Amino acid sequence: MPDLAKLSIKSARTALQKKTFSARELTRASLEAIREKDPDIHAFLEVFEDALEQADEADRKITEGEGSPLLGIPIAIKDNMLMAGKRVTAGSKILEGFVAPYDGTVIKKLKDAGAVILGRTNMDEFAMGSSTENSAYGVTKNPHDLSRVPGGSSGGSAAALSANLVLATLGSDTGGSIRQPAAFCGVVGLKPTYGRVSRSGLIALASSFDQIGPFTKTVGDAEILYEVLEGRDPLDSTTISRETYPSRRKFSKVVGVPKVFVESEGIDDSVKHNFRTAVEKFKSLGYEVKDIELPHIKYSLATYYIIMPAEASSNLARFDGVKYGLHRSGSDVIEDYFKTRGEGFGKEARRRIILGTYVLSSGYYDEYYGSALKMKKLITREFDEMFGEIDLILTPTTPTPAFKLGEKTADPLSMYVADIFTVPANIAGLPSISIPSGMVQTLPLGILLTAGLGREDNLFAAGKEFLGA
Ligand code: GLN
Repeated sequence: MPDLAKLSIKSARTALQKKTFSARELTRASLEAIREKDPDIHAFLEVFEDALEQADEADRKITEGEGSPLLGIPIAIKDNMLMAGKRVTAGSKILEGFVAPYDGTVIKKLKDAGAVILGRTNMDEFAMGSSTENSAYGVTKNPHDLSRVPGGSSGGSAAALSANLVLATLGSDTGGSIRQPAAFCGVVGLKPTYGRVSRSGLIALASSFDQIGPFTKTVGDAEILYEVLEGRDPLDSTTISRETYPSRRKFSKVVGVPKVFVESEGIDDSVKHNFRTAVEKFKSLGYEVKDIELPHIKYSLATYYIIMPAEASSNLARFDGVKYGLHRSGSDVIEDYFKTRGEGFGKEARRRIILGTYVLSSGYYDEYYGSALKMKKLITREFDEMFGEIDLILTPTTPTPAFKLGEKTADPLSMYVADIFTVPANIAGLPSISIPSGMVQTLPLGILLTAGLGREDNLFAAGKEFLGA
């Protein structure tokens, strides 16, 4: 039986083409691993019944000589992506039993590329969180240490790959939800430039930040998936093409480190030490490492926690008990809404709806939402100017390694700080990738590379050199 722990997308594709094993055998290995290991980890919310049929279809195509990039590769998707005929809940009770009426664009692209879509993975409710503890369907555990969180909100996708249950997964990243769990679970996680991957069929958290991206074991695999997923889409008017951001600089291995930011309070010593080692490695690979200053980057988290809830409160208004999922009856329609939403949304979702409604209310709109939008502009401009001089920005991905289950659930602010390094890329729309950078005892850490708009190529080039794959 194929050994998933030893395979990447690339090597599995070669083996499938050579018929070393079949897509059915590979999918069986995946299903077997899920059956054996997932009861402890709980990465999956559902394994699709037709997985083996999809694999047989892939085998037929391989025999016919087809060679599409993901043909026969077992992949899992985060539970906020619509796949026709399959349930989708965004980790929320309010969508319990809801069946997707159509394929989201990324799902269509995965299918066209021949992927075997195995199932949907656990997540924080509506992608709100950094630990996957906000799911209405139970917590997911970190495969490296079952007493710890896998990160979030795409914790199920990160854990499923890290435990070698599949060969790649998809997540979504609004403030770090791909890159932070990737770091906690020791895998690669990519958030593309805003607009490079269609959001059609993605259940929205904050539409101006949300972006779908891959979890993979190697940077090369991330590139393969990115090439499949990216592209303009008439169903998402915010999508852009390769030509949207003309490249301003030739990649010349210049990396900037915002030193003050990296050394700020609350960053674990183990993280700082691991980061310094990574910086040295880049130097030994011939990179020029520069100290840079980004004076407004420290306001990213505060800006995010105004704009994100504002958009979330608006996006979640559609869940009224009439159109989708859960319905609770009261004495009139207003009471129906109160009952449905009160019961259907978890605590974090309710907190953000209240926060978002507050910052958008008349009298506070300018003070909060208006100011946050101005800060977003400033941060974006600051990055833009910086990327005229350097190719990449390097920071740790997270301020700490994976924390204990329950450690931060009582204190939302301490949870929010888990995204301090990842959020700036969402504010400015930049592509950003987390790459494994070693372990502290049993726990993985990651470094974060961020590039200028549309410059995923820089992330792949430097990432491959750093990881050697
Ligand atoms: N952890 C952040 C939040 O709670 C980011 C979530 C995300 O990227 N979806 O909002």
